[in-house]
Amino acid sequence: MELHTAPAPAAAASDSVELLFQRQRARAEALRREGWESRAARLRKLSRWIDDNRAAIQQALYADFRKPAAETDVSEIWSSQVEIKHTLRNLKQWTQPRPVGTPISLMGTRNWVQYEPKGVCLIIAPWNYPFYLAIDPLASALAAGNACIIKPSEITPTVAALLARMCRELFDPAEVTVVEGDKDVATALLKLPFNHIFFTGSPQVGKIVMRAAAEHLASVTLELGGKSPVIVDDTADLRDAAEKIMWGKGINAGQTCVAPDYVLVQESVKEKLVEEMKDVVRRFYDPEGEGVAASKSYARIVNQHHFQRIASLLEDAQAQGANILSGGMVDAGQRFIEPTLLEGAPAESRIMQEEIFGPLLPIIPFRTLMEATDVVNSRLQPLALYVFSQSAEHQRYLLQNIPAGGSCVNETILHLAHPDLPFGGFGNSGLGKAHGFAGFVGFSNEKSVLKQRVGRTGIKTMYPPYTPKVRKM
Ligand code: NAD
Repeated sequence: MELHTAPAPAAAASDSVELLFQRQRARAEALRREGWESRAARLRKLSRWIDDNRAAIQQALYADFRKPAAETDVSEIWSSQVEIKHTLRNLKQWTQPRPVGTPISLMGTRNWVQYEPKGVCLIIAPWNYPFYLAIDPLASALAAGNACIIKPSEITPTVAALLARMCRELFDPAEVTVVEGDKDVATALLKLPFNHIFFTGSPQVGKIVMRAAAEHLASVTLELGGKSPVIVDDTADLRDAAEKIMWGKGINAGQTCVAPDYVLVQESVKEKLVEEMKDVVRRFYDPEGEGVAASKSYARIVNQHHFQRIASLLEDAQAQGANILSGGMVDAGQRFIEPTLLEGAPAESRIMQEEIFGPLLPIIPFRTLMEATDVVNSRLQPLALYVFSQSAEHQRYLLQNIPAGGSCVNETILHLAHPDLPFGGFGNSGLGKAHGFAGFVGFSNEKSVLKQRVGRTGIKTMYPPYTPKVRKM
């Protein structure tokens, strides 16, 4: 484990994080008294650093899993800047007390909600968008006036080291710092009485985090995963749908929390949709006909463990009768898995039970919208639901009948790029929301205030002693 305050002491890891935590806790009191301008100054510094270090960010992502620079620009750098700049534009307004109307029973009082920092926060980040998914909650934590410790994923060590350098260059470690390490480090951190924990990762680890938070009654935001379905009906523009689905699936080689996980398509348009999807893969990743593996626009699987996991999902599905419709090439040495369409995977196969988190896309035909709805609702709540249809009635039906963390109609993934749309899951896919004002609120305590005039109260008639007149009320 490496702490970025001073050379790592020889003492036990838990002692070091404890010390760091205590320093942040002491500083949190001063941070609480700062105005929005100081918070904005930190956010501006962060934004400038990202601009100045664009090449280093691209290189780190390439080193960790050969992520194409263009994808890093959009999904790590631009997305981080959107969040920071939106926060900067709105921070003054968000931090003002929000007036609340007065009911007749409390006439004469003034009422408002004021936002105060939670204190010392922990951000645990995953590896799949390792820069953006640390910066996004950091922007919200800073906007709300907190101190925080970031624990990046050990699976993307180059990005973790870059985040650590960034924090060293920008912040006093008593305000923001990075602690690198694996789950043992996360476990040591989770023993500390943080005021809020923002976790992004798998539902399995989310449960561990929530249990640890319960020990200190810390609040949590859990940004988890799951199987996000796409539903394509017979009114959809199939070319448009195919392009948007394969873009959402292909970016980061399918290692995206909101990637389309499986496609439910109305039987009558299945073949046409599959042909369009194959064509998109050719246009996106193989325009020269040299094979997708030669594409500079396609990332690799992050490590051998995940490569083997995804490859075995495919093998297992085939063994249970699934057919590959296109793709299917895997190369362990390169950790390369081709975008792969398959059909006929049984509902009980692992590929239809586990989050795929890779470039495999099962296709499932359906006859009625009710049938498609039942397939989705027989599983745990998805993080995202994608509906491709030109029928307003069908869109309404699916949105109303399928619970999900978020949704796009005739699009994939882009709902997470809108800073005014609260982002997050529901049930198994998460708890609490991130981005924009929702993210700011997640890192704030909403303190409710009722202000009365001296000598006035609306409830004097309810004071003891309880005469018959009081009891009548
Ligand atoms: P993960 O749960 O394995 O790890 C996430 C973080 O938790 C890492 O920093 C890791 O070191 C730490 N961790 C691992 N085991 C731990 C333990 N036992 N105790 C404490 N901490 C532990 O997830 P991952 O593989 O990094 O990411 C993939 C998952 O994250 C997928 O399920 C994906 O859908 C989800 N995800 C969700 C979002 C979202 O915004 N909802 C975004 C990205 C990824």
